[in-house]
Amino acid sequence: MKADTHIYRGRLAPSPTGYLHLGHARTFWVAQERARAAGGTLVLRNEDMDAKRFKLEFVNAMIEDLRWFGFAWQEGPDCGGPVGPYNQSERMPFYRAALEKLRAGGFIYPCACSRKDIQTAARAPHADDEDGPIYPGTCRSKKTSTINSQPATRFSWRFRVPDGETSFFVDENFGPQSFLAGTDFGDFVVWRQDDVPAYQLTVVVDDAAMQITEVVRGADLLKSTARQLLLYHALGVPPPRFFHCPLMTDDAGVRLAKRHDALSLRQLRTTGATPESLRYGW
Ligand SMILES: [Zn+2]
Repeated sequence: MKADTHIYRGRLAPSPTGYLHLGHARTFWVAQERARAAGGTLVLRNEDMDAKRFKLEFVNAMIEDLRWFGFAWQEGPDCGGPVGPYNQSERMPFYRAALEKLRAGGFIYPCACSRKDIQTAARAPHADDEDGPIYPGTCRSKKTSTINSQPATRFSWRFRVPDGETSFFVDENFGPQSFLAGTDFGDFVVWRQDDVPAYQLTVVVDDAAMQITEVVRGADLLKSTARQLLLYHALGVPPPRFFHCPLMTDDAGVRLAKRHDALSLRQLRTTGATPESLRYGW
């Protein structure tokens, strides 16, 4: 399939680590509305890469809950499509190829640091950031061979960010955004020590391969977008547009999470709520 800039392709990319809640539904609803308004295609991608947390019951529930709420997609794990597979767990060859490309291009390096090592050495160990402390660059200048020669050592692959450079983009919703590499975020993991590709890599590889033209997702990922733009550049693929949505909070102002069981679509349905009533005012 050839990229066509006139065709809108959006996606829903839930991760089956729990039941979907109203916050997910609202962001997905925006994604669906934007795809519809553009006369485009909506893709459902099952982000089931995190095998430790992923459960099959959640995949089935996810698809059922999405349908109940009124979502309809034209490509997905249940209905197939031209750029599948649509389950991330079946896309390992794509991620390995991207890793190899990054490695050959000198964009990444192996890192054998433990979480504790990073915490101890971090420049701002208590940075108020849900991503954790900024990686201090300990393994940046180590020769790959010194790490590879110790086969017992498990290592991750980190992307070397261009320190001091600004990653700039115009969000379709929030407007101009800029983040400083090395200050707002550091060298990030693209491949984990447990041999699983990291979120930052899988999402870029898949959005590119699935020809997504606009990514609609929560505002908690604005900074990740800055990282991902570096990956798009390194992989030599054009990035999509981005539309980030404000996050939904509960009555106490706390961001909704999968632990808010009372606001899971499943629970709301059980208590008699209808999708129309839940969408009221959106
Ligand atoms: Zn390291």
